[in-house]
Amino acid sequence: MSYSVLKLKAGREAATGFHHPWIFSGALESIPTGLGHGDLVHVADRQGRIIGTGTYSAYTSITVRLFAFTEIIIDQAWLASRIRAANARRGLMGLGDGTPTTGYRVVFGESDNLPGLIIDRYGDTLVLQISTAGMDRLREQVIAACVEVFSPRAIVERSDMEIRTQEHLEPLTATHVGAAVEPVFFLENNLKFMADVVAGQKTGFYLDQRELRAHVKTLASGRTVLNLFSYSGATSIAALAGGATAVHNVDSSAAALALGKQQLALNSFSQDAWTSEEADVFAWLNDHKEPSFDMVIVDPPALTKSKRETESAGKAYHFLNRAALRLVRPGGIFVTSSCSRFFSEEDLAFTLRRASVQAGVNLNILHTVRQAPDHPLSIYFPESAYLKSFIGILD
Ligand code: SAH
Repeated sequence: MSYSVLKLKAGREAATGFHHPWIFSGALESIPTGLGHGDLVHVADRQGRIIGTGTYSAYTSITVRLFAFTEIIIDQAWLASRIRAANARRGLMGLGDGTPTTGYRVVFGESDNLPGLIIDRYGDTLVLQISTAGMDRLREQVIAACVEVFSPRAIVERSDMEIRTQEHLEPLTATHVGAAVEPVFFLENNLKFMADVVAGQKTGFYLDQRELRAHVKTLASGRTVLNLFSYSGATSIAALAGGATAVHNVDSSAAALALGKQQLALNSFSQDAWTSEEADVFAWLNDHKEPSFDMVIVDPPALTKSKRETESAGKAYHFLNRAALRLVRPGGIFVTSSCSRFFSEEDLAFTLRRASVQAGVNLNILHTVRQAPDHPLSIYFPESAYLKSFIGILD
């Protein structure tokens, strides 16, 4: 088997030389005619030496996504070895079989040298997300590799992300192996959780906030908690496990809130300590202005999905944080996140500085938290950093 060879332009080798996995159209000599969208390719330097292997995209400015910085053939065996290695790294993070956490991300795209692929594992169910044409073409081998590595009871695909349209791919939701029993059950730090892998958001659960939940648990004792953008209330469960006296969940998704009630029962916490409200948080905050909670958690969806929108998103983050800070009682805990890659940790700190001063409070930071380690921050791929949070306590 041989792949078409794409040649880098003179002076454009640096990024690839330092193992950044994306090659933009402007860095390449002309594309060989007949190359198909999603084809596997080799990339060569000026001297014709092969310096990487990846997939080609005809429709986005990211023309090549590299899987390796050597000349390789990508087949089921290679994919299985990458997936197995990624899973072994999760073991070193304290995740996986025989650990207190059986719901975790096995593969996080470029950070695990598998651009376009996400694999989340909830016990014996795997959930795939495929975002590029190149990975889409490898679907059958990916599924076979997953069977080889995990022998899962079910493999579900949740490739219903908007980003696929950029690659001219249709949304796809399917069960490839077994039958998806929903919801699926799993552990996170020994707490019991559920994910609706077929109809829930993302692959069914926000695995990336695991570290945040662990911190919330340590700080929640004796506190009343407001969880804004709660989704299925996973952070509220952590708060109750840490001794919170009451939690109030607010989210726009009725399905997510309903799942939250089931998680509450699963963990045998008192039903009386749990309330939920289906509402638009922005509107809700206009109706609630008094300091009335000992802990407030704010975890909005990405308010900007591009660099261009960062300024208007900044205003939304400012409004949210200022309004939410006003609801915290003196001495209370404030937990705030941004999951937008285009809104940096510095942007969030800047927002908090202004919001807290305007809200008339002083916020002492206890923890700076990032995405959980199974969503690794790759040193070669700074774009992998997207989620950051601050946890602070008011004077
Ligand atoms: N903290 C959660 C994840 C939150 S994700 C966890 O750890 O599981 C963001 C949530 O915001 C989603 O559940 C989504 O349904 C909700 N959402 C999005 N826009 C909203 C809005 N305007 N008002 C209320 N909820 C909203």
